[in-house]
Amino acid sequence: MVDKIISNFAYRQTATIVDTSADSQPVWFISEDISDADEPMLTPLFQDSFNQWVNEAAGLASFEVGEFLLFNKEAIEISFAGSQQREANENGKETLKRLVRSAVSNGGPCIEETEDKFIAAVPICRRNDGSVFCVLAYMSSTAAHTDLINLQICALHFRSCFYHKFEQIYVKDLLLQQHRAEKDAKRRDALFQAAKRLYDQIDVASVISELLRSLEQLYPNSEVHLYLSQDHLNGDPRVKPLVFKNAEHDLVAKAFLNGKSVTEHDRDGSLRLAVPMTGKQAAYGVLCFSIGPGLWDEADLPAFLMLAETSGSAFENAKLYEQSNLLINELRLINELTKRLNQSLKLKDIFQFATSELLTIFDADYCCVLQLHKEKNQFIVMSSNFPGLTNEQFSPDYGFCGMVYRTREPLIISDYWHTRVVTSMLMDNTASRSLIAAPIMVDGVVVGVILVTHKMPNFFSYENYKLLQVMSTHIGLAVTNASLHAEVRRMVITDILTGLHARHYLNEQIQRRQRKDPIGSLILVDIDLFKRINDTYGHQVGDRILIQVSDIVRSAIRNGDIAARWGGEELAVYLPGIRAEQAYRIAERIRQHVEKETDPVVTVSCGVSEWTFEDEKISVESLFYRADMALYEAKNNGRNCIFVGQS
Ligand code: GH3
Ligand code: MG
Ligand code: MG
Repeated sequence: MVDKIISNFAYRQTATIVDTSADSQPVWFISEDISDADEPMLTPLFQDSFNQWVNEAAGLASFEVGEFLLFNKEAIEISFAGSQQREANENGKETLKRLVRSAVSNGGPCIEETEDKFIAAVPICRRNDGSVFCVLAYMSSTAAHTDLINLQICALHFRSCFYHKFEQIYVKDLLLQQHRAEKDAKRRDALFQAAKRLYDQIDVASVISELLRSLEQLYPNSEVHLYLSQDHLNGDPRVKPLVFKNAEHDLVAKAFLNGKSVTEHDRDGSLRLAVPMTGKQAAYGVLCFSIGPGLWDEADLPAFLMLAETSGSAFENAKLYEQSNLLINELRLINELTKRLNQSLKLKDIFQFATSELLTIFDADYCCVLQLHKEKNQFIVMSSNFPGLTNEQFSPDYGFCGMVYRTREPLIISDYWHTRVVTSMLMDNTASRSLIAAPIMVDGVVVGVILVTHKMPNFFSYENYKLLQVMSTHIGLAVTNASLHAEVRRMVITDILTGLHARHYLNEQIQRRQRKDPIGSLILVDIDLFKRINDTYGHQVGDRILIQVSDIVRSAIRNGDIAARWGGEELAVYLPGIRAEQAYRIAERIRQHVEKETDPVVTVSCGVSEWTFEDEKISVESLFYRADMALYEAKNNGRNCIFVGQS
């Protein structure tokens, strides 16, 4: 069995391949593929093992008269030891190199012996394949002070020393490998756990704190800062806004703009690393990591980058989740608000409901809804939870309401105390500092303004501001609906020609009053000989007269009284809480005014009736019947007079 292990020699930092044949014996071999490129790695090993061998073999007599030399298989001298000065003549050197070369090529020892010289080269072979990997040579200026057997023993001894050193290094290397592998596995596990924890977070704040916590755990002596391009400051001093000052020099800005990690080594050996935190859609910030000298392992970089990448995706996921939650919430609120708003067609109810809902939705301190009164050209407070403002009126250029009216745009004020663009009674009287405001629009015209405030500065977010804008649109729609409904209702209960109420409205109102009031009276007003007016002056003049009489009736009665066109040229007035006696006087007033003020002059006859809670049968029909009977009597009594019907 042959394992291939990537070995990283401690003193060499480059990888080489070493074969391990562990089938039968636990012996380690340098692999056959050691090439010329491996020389720099082998040379120190040769030197080390040669020195060791020299120490161990120092007692040999051969050292006293000669010199041992170690050559690599390229016949390059690596080390020497012995008594002789290194001034052997050129001849000797040449001979030595020649012998070394032939020893390498023959694979066996080579000797040249003369009377005054003994030169020998003994090849040293690998244990796995027997190939020569270095040569131990001996040179002595005196003849044969040693013999070949001795030299071969020396060579074997050296080889043992060499392999001993080699194995030491190999075992050291192996331990290093194992240590690295364990460290890697631990780090991978820690990173995996950190990544898993990051993905488990569903809100942005937790992703950020989890990331910082994981890095603190993984690199306890480091300093970590997170620079965010978006507004997600969570009070942690390590989380800062990303500010672009000078991108060229600023590590963080550079990493963010280029979307690549940037490393900076300080003179003292400490490291600063800026890694962009990106998701699939955008870059969200930069993770800035500083660590002191000697504490950073370059091999950690890929894992570190992976963690930054994971945090980017987790941040994005959490953000999207938050956003979709926010959207769902907003839709739910809008849906609820619209539903509730549409339940009422009364403007006052709508404003009151909007006020209470907006206070809850925005967790606000105060809310104020103002409506523009067209005739008065004033904004009137329709609803507010601040009692001091009820029914207050403001000119359309006053305060924030005026600003919204002018710009027709929503507004956000983060701190009124610092940005006092206008004076606001609402803000001053409630000691509010934050404000969001939006116009209520109907058909593109500002008909009202919503103001929502809070005592704390910077309380409302941009999302709040956008949501109020959306909600004000829905409130505007509800106002439109209510206004249209009111208009239709007004039309339905109004007689077009005279502007008085329609007959059915009068009926309804009398019925309603009869249920709750103790008394009431009815006057029926009929124009005398109206047919003749029509015949004489034509219908148009007849209509004008009808309008004149209606105006007289309207001006003769009070606010709570109800005047209606009963039919044709007959009008009816209901006077709640009034007895027949008093009703008679009112009818008389009408009669006199008509006689005086109409042109061409007409007169009216009136029939009056009353009801009291003591009546046996109270009904609209009976009231009308009696008034009609009285009117009939008035007609029969020469017209232009008033009769009171008997109950
Ligand atoms: P009397 O004094 O008995 O009430 O006489 P009169 O002519 O007023 O009564 P009559 O019921 O005979 O006629 C009512 C007339 O009122 C008939 C119709 O021409 C007129 N009239 C009813 N409604 C209108 C209206 O809307 N416009 C005009 N110009 N005339 C109307
Ligand atoms: Mg008439
Ligand atoms: Mg009539």
